[in-house]
Amino acid sequence: MNARSPRSPVTRAPSPTVVRDDADHLEIITGVLVIGGGPAATWAALNAARTSAGEGLGVTLVDKGYCGASGVAATSGVGHWLTPPGSPLRDETFRIKNATGGGQSDRVWVDAVLDETWAQISTLPAMGWDRVDRNRRQPSLDLTTDNPSGAPYFRGPAPDYLRFLRGQVKKAGVTVLDHSPAVELLVTDNRDAVVGARGLQVRAGRNWTVHAHAVVLATGGTTWRSHSLGGDTNTGDGQLMAAEAGADLAAMEYSNFQGMVPFGTSMDKNGYFIKAEYWTGDGTPIHYDDLHYSRVPLLEHSVKGTVYARFSQFAPAQRATARENMPNFFAVVDKLGINPFTERFPIDWVHEGTVRGTGGVRVDDTTCAVGLPGLYAAGDVAARDRITGAATGAGGPNLSWAVRGCRLAGEQRLRGGGEGGGRGS
Ligand SMILES: Cc1cc2nc3c(=O)[nH]c(=O)nc-3n(C[C@H](O)[C@H](O)[C@H](O)COP(=O)(O)OP(=O)(O)OC[C@H]3O[C@@H](n4cnc5c(N)ncnc54)[C@H](O)[C@@H]3O)c2cc1C
Repeated sequence: MNARSPRSPVTRAPSPTVVRDDADHLEIITGVLVIGGGPAATWAALNAARTSAGEGLGVTLVDKGYCGASGVAATSGVGHWLTPPGSPLRDETFRIKNATGGGQSDRVWVDAVLDETWAQISTLPAMGWDRVDRNRRQPSLDLTTDNPSGAPYFRGPAPDYLRFLRGQVKKAGVTVLDHSPAVELLVTDNRDAVVGARGLQVRAGRNWTVHAHAVVLATGGTTWRSHSLGGDTNTGDGQLMAAEAGADLAAMEYSNFQGMVPFGTSMDKNGYFIKAEYWTGDGTPIHYDDLHYSRVPLLEHSVKGTVYARFSQFAPAQRATARENMPNFFAVVDKLGINPFTERFPIDWVHEGTVRGTGGVRVDDTTCAVGLPGLYAAGDVAARDRITGAATGAGGPNLSWAVRGCRLAGEQRLRGGGEGGGRGS
């Protein structure tokens, strides 16, 4: 049964102070500026609104696209890494991730992320989340073990979840500027703190400047415009802005992740490929141990010629559900006239960079601080090798890393309440 609780009362954050608002420029002063519009940005904005609501400083979110429909989550599912505190499942969850990541996960970080994800997702019912998993005709979120799966789960299409999070952000009084990419962080004259950002309001055709006591970068990973699914808006702006301001990048050596796609498409939903059957062009079967650990056997053959796949792991009775669970993948193969359950189809690879790879802005601790006062990094823009090691964070860990949110309480007191003039980095 899905535990339902009454909706929590909404505390609205105060509005930021508008300094200038004319045809050429919007200039505001805010407590917390969140840059991005995906799960990391919306959760960070919600947490900031909750913690700064009483302090008169306000929270502002700027998104390059339309918050609630932008970023890679808009093409994905809501599969978070969900394990309750104290559960015996914790040891197993850690063991598996640590093994796939080459033994580089840090148990303290993994526990912190799992605790935080559990705490955040547990608040969804009180916020009004009551979606139903239409395929299974069950609640989409169930945090008990008293369900047919015997374990807590959260399922369904992420676009619904993003729309919901946008609604919560607006309800919490966050000022949202859509279609307003940030292009530069503002730093103090002696470059020892970040005090805001500058950008463009594309539709209004004007510039914006936001002075802020804390800036949360949540601009996603980057695929370096390989055109992999959902990655086109994520062009590495956050990583670049952070580096220009003086932050470090970490684990970039784990950012060469390649996703498998039906040949000639960008549909890199990797899930079903992990247990598929493969052949070379002349029909020789390709053997592999576990594609979670290594894709080298497939890549070796791919550099010599086209490799073919078939999703033979699904018995006929399972195929309808498999289709329903990944509708966008099947929209593409249907258009190509391929039945991936029964036919061998050619595959290719697309670069998924730091979306499924784990490099990014180095964070000092699990609170998202990057070691430069005033700057935080959340979600795919931040390096997350401490939880996933040298392996992809997709399939649960990445979204948990994103929703863990940044706890910024105390930031305003730390910074002494100054409004920060700031110059570009
Ligand atoms: C096909 C696919 C399926 C996936 N499935 C899963 C899954 O089941 N489980 C899982 O854990 N993970 C999954 N992932 C990964 C997961 O979607 C990401 O980890 C998650 O979306 C990261 O959230 P984010 O907010 O950091 O980044 P994003 O969701 O990518 O959001 C980035 C945001 O930043 C904005 N932005 C970019 N540049 C700027 C700028 N200069 N100024 C302002 N805003 C900017 C973008 O518009 C966007 O709103 C999947 C990814 C893909 C591609």
